[in-house]
Amino acid sequence: MADNIFDIAVIGGGPAGLSAALTGRIRNKTVAIFNHLEFSPKLQKAHIVDNYPGMPEITGKGLMQQMSAHCLAHEPTLIKEKVLNIFPTEGTFTLLTPAQTYEARVIVIATGVVATALFEGERDYLGRGVSYCATCDGMFYRDKDVAIISYTQEEGEHEANFLGELCRNVYYLPQYKGEAPKLRSEKIKVLSGVRPKAIKGEGQVAGLVTDKEELKVDGVFILRQSDPVENILPGLELEGETIKVKRDMSTNIPGVFAAGDCTGKPWQIAKAAGEGLVAVLSAITYLEKSAK
Ligand SMILES: Cc1cc2nc3c(=O)[nH]c(=O)nc-3n(C[C@H](O)[C@H](O)[C@H](O)COP(=O)(O)OP(=O)(O)OC[C@H]3O[C@@H](n4cnc5c(N)ncnc54)[C@H](O)[C@@H]3O)c2cc1C
Repeated sequence: MADNIFDIAVIGGGPAGLSAALTGRIRNKTVAIFNHLEFSPKLQKAHIVDNYPGMPEITGKGLMQQMSAHCLAHEPTLIKEKVLNIFPTEGTFTLLTPAQTYEARVIVIATGVVATALFEGERDYLGRGVSYCATCDGMFYRDKDVAIISYTQEEGEHEANFLGELCRNVYYLPQYKGEAPKLRSEKIKVLSGVRPKAIKGEGQVAGLVTDKEELKVDGVFILRQSDPVENILPGLELEGETIKVKRDMSTNIPGVFAAGDCTGKPWQIAKAAGEGLVAVLSAITYLEKSAK
């Protein structure tokens, strides 16, 4: 890339994001696709997908292998990092991940849905003790007590090991089924089978209420496959919990498009892939108009 700015940044590597990135590349645009976990860990759990045309009786894992291989063969830049924030900056967008910043001219959001309801207090204390990224915010909790609520094994263990080096006590609440967590520090206490209920405090987080006990903590880290989208891009207009889009998949923010489960029901693969296509074509039209 001549100027280090991607034409299109696609956030999310599920059916919607892969479809958008594929067509973006076929239309000869520079495309970055951000996906921090596997390609759609959610869909990979489906034993059988029987309503995606042309692929009868395929497993969710098999479908994601085919979709990702097809997309990557067209060489978008795959960035295996989580996008934490997007900021509009003078005609382009800056994307912030735990590792670095990137720039793009247009954005396609395809982050899926937050599969679990938000905890009581989560919204109120975001940035005041609630965080979605240990790498970014861990330093604020040096020698303090924190809880980690994790829905993803690999990311959860990685972040817990990091916080175990910094914090006084780390309570690790795995919310997934899987092997016993591999954690390095004795400061990390694993609370398996414990369900978080609410985040409490006064101005700042002071505790996490669970179905068993109340943990006195200064910070709560919540690691889901997808974060609430309005936290990634402030000012994005929602309709209930999902992104409000027009028929061309544009949002209320010029240059920002959205596709897939994050725009609402039906939560289905064919709808996600179709919206990914519409979103990227609209994004390309927007790019061409802005270049004139
Ligand atoms: C068990 C199960 C079975 C299902 N079976 C079917 C079926 O048979 N037929 C059907 O049509 N649908 C099925 N679905 C629904 C289907 O999985 C979804 O509709 C589809 O995956 C939506 O695609 P998407 O691209 O919008 O989002 P997702 O598939 O959720 O992909 C979003 C991607 O974005 C990534 N991501 C999120 N936030 C960020 C970020 N900030 N930075 C970087 N990456 C990010 C995630 O890790 C993920 O890879 C099933 C769902 C489940 C859970």
